[in-house]
Amino acid sequence: MALTIGVDVGGTKIAYGVVDEHGAILERGLRHSPAGSPEKMALTIADAVTELAARHSVEAVGIGAAGFVDETRSIIRFAPNLAWREEPLREKVGELVGLPVVVENDANAMAWGEYRFGAGRGESHVVCVTVGTGIGGGIVLGGELYRGRWGMGAEFGHMQAVPGGRACGCGNSGCWERYASGSALLMEARNNAQADPAGAAHLLRLGGSVEGIQGEHVTEAARQGDRAALAAFESLAGWLAQGLADMAAVLDPGCFIIGGGVSGAADLFVDRVREEFAARLTGRGHRPLAEIRVAEMGPAAGLVGAGDLARLR
Ligand SMILES: [Zn+2]
Repeated sequence: MALTIGVDVGGTKIAYGVVDEHGAILERGLRHSPAGSPEKMALTIADAVTELAARHSVEAVGIGAAGFVDETRSIIRFAPNLAWREEPLREKVGELVGLPVVVENDANAMAWGEYRFGAGRGESHVVCVTVGTGIGGGIVLGGELYRGRWGMGAEFGHMQAVPGGRACGCGNSGCWERYASGSALLMEARNNAQADPAGAAHLLRLGGSVEGIQGEHVTEAARQGDRAALAAFESLAGWLAQGLADMAAVLDPGCFIIGGGVSGAADLFVDRVREEFAARLTGRGHRPLAEIRVAEMGPAAGLVGAGDLARLR
């Protein structure tokens, strides 16, 4: 049985585990992420790998990392929320653990996990969109992970949706993720509550004030029928649907997978996304409709996907 270790490195936590060829996690662990120090990061990852490799016969290590990974899957060019700049992570960790290592963008790893073992099983052309604080994603075309020429493809969140629109952390403005992410959902709900307090009774009770409203309040209030919260989800669905229709125009996938933190509330918006997608798709009525599915694997998708990509290296 070919086992690998998958590691999912985020800004606050490192999740890692032993992954088999069916995508099952045989043993897993969690560590604090030393986000400010590339040296400590490499040591922490290597220590976690060594711990598991002592108990399991593993053949390779896959690291999914929140950053721009180069096309050779070795170097993290830049990570917005971590201290990595031109970081040769593959080499550093490889030397410390004595195993082959591949490094992959975390959203790519997650997309691969869902494609192989989750909501994308049986499909060959899959676009996975992670909706959280921002929007990330991964593309599988013809059964291959599509990385782009320099490894930096599938940064959907930064397609411009609104010329001259809301400022984005990437330095541009009007990016899709400023309208269709969890942060956008929250901003929309607060704006709605400000404009129409009577329609936001549940939201305002949960948050205490407009500024006190948090993401989980929007979900809870929407489930209670709060008008402002429901309108925020409706707006999110419209923006998501438009982006998916645009991507379908370019990539023509068989299925989209919506993952990330906001997908936990998918029952509140995914039907609306399907309707709006069908209404906005170019060539509608004369082409099959891509399915829009909800991610199945939760936070484990990144770890499992990274481990699987190491096996297929
Ligand atoms: Zn942007």
